[in-house]
Amino acid sequence: MLNINKLALFLFFVSHAIIAQTLKSPEEYFGNATGSKFHFHHQLIGYAEYVAANKPENVKIFPLGFTTEGRPQMIVAIGSKENIQNIELIRKSNLQNIGLMAGAGNKNIPTIAYLSYNVHGNESVNAETSVKVIYEMANGTSDLAKKVLKNTLILIDPCVNPDGFDRYSQWYNRYLGKKPDLHAASVEHHEPWPGGRFNHYLFDLNRDIAWQTQKETQQRINFYNSWMPHLHADFHEMGPNSTYYFPPSAKPFHEDLTGFQREFQELLGQYNKKAFDEKGWLYFTKENYDLFYPSYGDTYPSYNGAIGMTFEQGGGGPAGLAYKRNDGDTLTLKDRIMHSFSTSMGALEALSDKSEKTIEEFNKFFNDAQGKGFGKYKSYVMKFKGNEAKVKALAEQLDKMQIEYSFANKKSAVSGFNYQNQKEEAFSVDENDMIVNSYQPKGVLAKILFEPKSYLEDSNTYDITAWALPYAYDLPAFALSQKLSGGTTKPKFDSKVEIANGKRVFAFASEVSSFEESKFLAQLFKEKIKVRLQEAPFKAGGKDFGAGTLLITRKGNENLGENFEAKVTAIAKAFDINLLPLYSGLVESGPDMGASSVDVLNPPKIGLMVGAGITPTAAGDVWHFFDQQLDYPITLIDGSYFGRVDLWTLDVLILPNGQYGNIIKDHKEVTRWVSDGGRVILLESANDFLAGKDGIELKSKSKPDAKNDINKSYGSRDRDAISDQIPGAIYKVNLDNTHPLAYGYEKTSNVMIKNTLDNEYLKNGWNVGKLGEHVSGFVGQNVKKTMKDVPVFAVQDHGKGKIIHLLESPIFRGFWYGGKLMMANAAFLVR
Ligand SMILES: [Zn+2]
Repeated sequence: MLNINKLALFLFFVSHAIIAQTLKSPEEYFGNATGSKFHFHHQLIGYAEYVAANKPENVKIFPLGFTTEGRPQMIVAIGSKENIQNIELIRKSNLQNIGLMAGAGNKNIPTIAYLSYNVHGNESVNAETSVKVIYEMANGTSDLAKKVLKNTLILIDPCVNPDGFDRYSQWYNRYLGKKPDLHAASVEHHEPWPGGRFNHYLFDLNRDIAWQTQKETQQRINFYNSWMPHLHADFHEMGPNSTYYFPPSAKPFHEDLTGFQREFQELLGQYNKKAFDEKGWLYFTKENYDLFYPSYGDTYPSYNGAIGMTFEQGGGGPAGLAYKRNDGDTLTLKDRIMHSFSTSMGALEALSDKSEKTIEEFNKFFNDAQGKGFGKYKSYVMKFKGNEAKVKALAEQLDKMQIEYSFANKKSAVSGFNYQNQKEEAFSVDENDMIVNSYQPKGVLAKILFEPKSYLEDSNTYDITAWALPYAYDLPAFALSQKLSGGTTKPKFDSKVEIANGKRVFAFASEVSSFEESKFLAQLFKEKIKVRLQEAPFKAGGKDFGAGTLLITRKGNENLGENFEAKVTAIAKAFDINLLPLYSGLVESGPDMGASSVDVLNPPKIGLMVGAGITPTAAGDVWHFFDQQLDYPITLIDGSYFGRVDLWTLDVLILPNGQYGNIIKDHKEVTRWVSDGGRVILLESANDFLAGKDGIELKSKSKPDAKNDINKSYGSRDRDAISDQIPGAIYKVNLDNTHPLAYGYEKTSNVMIKNTLDNEYLKNGWNVGKLGEHVSGFVGQNVKKTMKDVPVFAVQDHGKGKIIHLLESPIFRGFWYGGKLMMANAAFLVR
C-alpha cells in the first residue's frame, strides 16, 4: 500500500506528466487571469520561449538582436510540423518566386502572415494579445488554428518596441493599488513625459519603417526583407473613448495599390465584422487611417506587394487596466485583448481562405515590375559629380530597402524631368551618375519613393504628403520615361587624400560640402585636433575652395608631431571625404592661412532641452542626430530643473519644438547668456517663446482679423479645416550660402515644411533661408496664401552670441539627409 506521502508524490508525477504534454496558456503560465495586469517585456518573451521549447515541432524563434536599452527582439514562427521542418525552403522559395533570390523556387508554399504587435510602446494591449495568439496557434487545437496552419506560416513579432513597452508597464505598475482606480484624476490615467509610445531615442517607430533610422527598425526590416511576407498586420491603440478600427482603410489610398490589395481591404472588413457583430462590440472602418505615407506598418508592406493593414483598439496610455469612458462604459484591458485577439484571428482566416489567390497576386506584383517596369517614369538619374557623399548616403538607404541601382559607365545624351526646375529637358548622363530604374522586383517601391510628385486622390491625410528621395537628399536628379541601366554597381572614385611623398604638410584643407564633413569635424573635435575655419573663398593647390573650408594646420597641432599627416588623413578616410594637403601657408588667390578671415573652431559644449512641454519626437530627432548620426556628445537637460542650470557652462543650447512658458521663467537669463557668447538654437515653435520679446528681431506677421464665413456648412467642417493644414510638403528654400549656417549648400535646398510659417524677415539679422516655391505635397489653400515672403532659417547676432532660428526642423524623423548639414553647421560653425 502506498502511504500518504508516496501517494502525493505519485499523483504529483502523474499530473505533471499530463501537464507537460499540454501547453500552458498564458493565464496558467503567468498565474493570473487575462487582462488582470500589464506584464513586463521579459515575462512575455519568457512565455514565447517556453512555448518554443515545449512545441519545437510547431514553433521556432528567430532572434533579431537587442534594442538600445538591451531588450531582445525576436520573431516567433508558428506553423504545421511540415512547414516548420521546411521553413528555410519556404523562405527561399518565396524570395526566388519574386526574383529577390537567384534560382527556381518551389511554387507550392504556404502563405506567410506577419503580425506585428505594439510598435507604439504604450499601446500595451498588443503585446498582451500576442501571447494569446501564440498560444492559440502553437496549441493548434481549435478549428480555426487547424484550418489556418494547413496553408499558412505565421511570423509573430510580440513587441516591436520593447523599450517603450517596458517604460509604460514599469510606470503603470508602480502606481497600481489593490485594484485599478476609475477616477479620471488618478495618476494611472496620466502617463508622464515622454510616454511609452516612442523608442529609446523618442522616435515614432511607425514612421520609421522605410527610413530605418532606428536600430529596432533596422533589425526588424532586415528580417522582413529576408522573408517578404504576403500579409502584414500592424496592431495599435487609439484614444480610450474610441471603439475599434479595422480595415477597409480611409482615403487617400496611394494610386499604386493594386486592385487585389484594395479588394482585400474590403474582405478584411467582412471577416472582422463577424465576431464584432456577434458579440455586439462597437467598431468603425474607412475613417482616419489612410494608406499613403510610405513609412507606416501598413503602407510599407503594401508597397512591398503584401496585404498591409492597421488595427486600432480604443485604449492606449490613459486606459490602464480599467477606464471609465465618456459613454459610461468601463473599458478593461481584458476587453481590449479580446478585440485585438479577434482581429488577429480575422486577418489570419481571411488570408488562409484566400491563400492561393494571394500568392498568385503577390508573385505577379514583383514579376510584372521586373519584366515591364512600373510607372510613368521608368528611370531616375542622380548626378554624381560634386554630390558624392549624398549619392553614397542614398545608396545606403536603397540597400536597406533592397532597391537596386547602378552607376553609368559612359556618357549619353537623353532627356527627362528635371527635379530642380520642374521642367522636361535634354541633359547628359555622365560617368558615375546613379541610375535607378523600375525594371526590378522592387520596382513599385522605387517608383513610389522616387516619383517627383505623389498623386493624392484625397487630401485628408494625417501625415506628410511628399517624400521623393532626390529632394530628401538634395540631389540634382532627372526622371526619364525610358529604361536606362548603368554599367557598374560601384562608382569609380579617385583617391581623395594624396600626400606628396616625403613632403611636410603645412595644412590640410577640406571644403564643407556635405554632412560627411560635419562628421569629420566632430571626430577632429573629439580627438582634440585644432581646426580652423576659412570663411572666405580661396584657391590653393590648384583647387578653388568656396566659402567655408576647414583648415587643419600643423600650427596648433604640434602635439601630434610626425604623426600629424597620418592622423588627419586616417580620420578623413574613415569618413570618405575630400582632403587636400597643402605645403605652404601662401595661397594662390584669396586670403592666406594666417589671415583674419581664418578663425579657430572650438568644440562646443551642447545642451538639449527635454521634458514636459517639449514634443518628445522633436527632442528625439536632435538627441539621435548628435548622439548617433554625428557622434558628438550632447547634454540632456530636463526643464524641471532648468532654473538651477548654470548656462555659462554651455556654448550651445538647443530648444526643440515645444511650449517653453512654464520651463524658462526668465527669458532674460537666456538672452544675457547669449550676449556673453552663448548660441541658442530655436527649432519650430520654440521660436514663439522668444519672438517679439525685447531685443529679439524675430516677430510674427500681424494677422488680418479672421472673417467669419456666414455661409460655412456644419457638415463640411472637417473638409474645410483642411484649408488651414500643411501636413508636410516640400518647398524650395533660397539660401545665403555665404553664411556659416548654409555653408556647403547650393543656392537652394529642398526642405520638408510642416509648420505654417508666418514671421517677418529679420530687419537687423541674417535671413539665411527664405521660403521659395512649393515643389511637391499638399498645402491647404489658406496656408498657401499666408506663406509668402517668410524666413525659414535666420540668425540674429546678439552681443557676443547668436540666436539661431530654425523655423522648420531640418532633421525631421532623421531621414531628411539634405538638412543634416545645416543642423551641424548651426552647432559647430555659427559662432
Ligand atoms: Zn499606434
